[in-house]
Amino acid sequence: MTTTPLQGSAGDRLAETFADYVPSLEGRDVVTIRPRYGLVIGGEERSPRDGGSYPTIEPATGGALAEVAEAGPADVDDAVAAARRAYEDGWRDMPGRRRAVYLFRLARLVQDRARELAVLESIDGGKPIRESRDIDVPLAAAHLFHHAGWADKLEYAVPGMRARPLGVVGQIIPWNFPLLMAAWKIAPALACGNTIVLKPAETTPLTALLLAELIREAEIPAGVVNIVTGAGATGAALASHPGIDKVAFTGSTEVGKGIRRALAGTGTRLTLELGGKGAHLVFDDAALDQAVEGIVDGIFLNQGHVCCAGSRLLAQEGIADELLARLRRRIELLRIGDPLDKNTDVGAINSASQLEIIRGYVDGAASAGCRIDQPSRPLPQRGFWFPPTIVSGVGGSETIVREEVFGPVLTVQTFRTEAEAVAKANATRYGLSAGVWTEKGSRILWVSERLRAGVVWANCFNQFDPASPFGGVRESGFGREGGRQGLAEYLTLDPAA
Ligand code: NDP
Repeated sequence: MTTTPLQGSAGDRLAETFADYVPSLEGRDVVTIRPRYGLVIGGEERSPRDGGSYPTIEPATGGALAEVAEAGPADVDDAVAAARRAYEDGWRDMPGRRRAVYLFRLARLVQDRARELAVLESIDGGKPIRESRDIDVPLAAAHLFHHAGWADKLEYAVPGMRARPLGVVGQIIPWNFPLLMAAWKIAPALACGNTIVLKPAETTPLTALLLAELIREAEIPAGVVNIVTGAGATGAALASHPGIDKVAFTGSTEVGKGIRRALAGTGTRLTLELGGKGAHLVFDDAALDQAVEGIVDGIFLNQGHVCCAGSRLLAQEGIADELLARLRRRIELLRIGDPLDKNTDVGAINSASQLEIIRGYVDGAASAGCRIDQPSRPLPQRGFWFPPTIVSGVGGSETIVREEVFGPVLTVQTFRTEAEAVAKANATRYGLSAGVWTEKGSRILWVSERLRAGVVWANCFNQFDPASPFGGVRESGFGREGGRQGLAEYLTLDPAA
């Protein structure tokens, strides 16, 4: 591989500065990780009836953290039946103001236990504690608070319509934002009066299982939220279960397509939040240092394990060299290492298999003659690590430009005109996110209107708010999460009498 570490006196001085940083470790002792975890069905934790168990691995060390139950089809049956009973025996007909009380309680409990949730998220998933503490957990609480506020006001969310819950919803979430995705799914579903069977990702089940404890503490009735841990087979059993009224899936486009095929003609409602290949479009009048920070955040947040990551940089020719030079200097400053160190900018890759995927893409780009820039500092010895990487000298047809890498890898292309920038940004089968960097408001509007993406940020990136609907177009999926649009995905709407 043609790796080009930063050389020379500036790079050396930076490396020395980093050597001086004293670790600032968040204590692991705020969390208690039990040796074994069961399934949460009908308000009780229990062993699988026909499944097995598997170890959940700490990405930063490669060591096993706990043994987690793997639900088989009979367990999924039980969970769906428990959710159905809870739906029919009270949750469906409960006044919205009472459902709101439960959701407010849960939101407050998430805030009370924020430190514990953040540490556990970083241990189980590998993301820096700064992110789990400042992004994942506060946003999870915000989603719960926001939807608690809607629970007794659904008729205002969809004026002129009578809103009813759908029934039992099956929710399947990925490993990149385990707690946050659980909150994105659970909050609107409960606010609208549905009950839930949730399947967390195989590699990151622990914060969902802690959330189950908080759900019990909030006294949310038994069976309203059931959690079935396991791998893809558990997800498939849930998605195709005839007792489910809606499937909400976040994950890869390939699995999403399979679920859509399986549900075709069944009448089961479906929303899909899938992959992405987001672009930053940086024009020559942009504030470059601000753009550099936004690009770094857009691609290296959570090691690039972000569906809406800005993984393609499109830079206008006049500033492309300068922007690239600043980015190369900037990645030398990123601190890679222990997710529990508050200094860490880039944590561990979520799993050994995801590390192999990322390596494969970058090796392929190097073999295709692309230039690969990576920081010069060594990576930790144990665990799963990949350095922030900039791939330049690409044409646009390379695999690394076309496919979702889901890792800390940015490709760089140039453009001359707005039209060329839009054409290149849209040259992807995905359509989830984009960022436009320019000081001209008219240019922001002209470009944004032509971008085929569910979310377009202007002079910023990765900004989330529970009031703002999020979702994709084309192979990034359909349906929205957040905002009034997200609520409507969990409701049957009839014209008001
Ligand atoms: P998946 O799409 O396989 O995983 C997402 C969720 O779906 C997980 O809970 C998974 O379970 C579950 N699942 C897997 N197979 C099935 C199935 N047949 N039916 C129902 N549910 C299923 O993503 P991966 O974790 O395998 O990651 C692969 C690639 O997907 C990544 O490299 C990345 O490119 C992309 N990805 C995109 C995400 C996004 O938000 N856009 C999120 C995650 C991945 P389990 O974890 O047990 O396999």
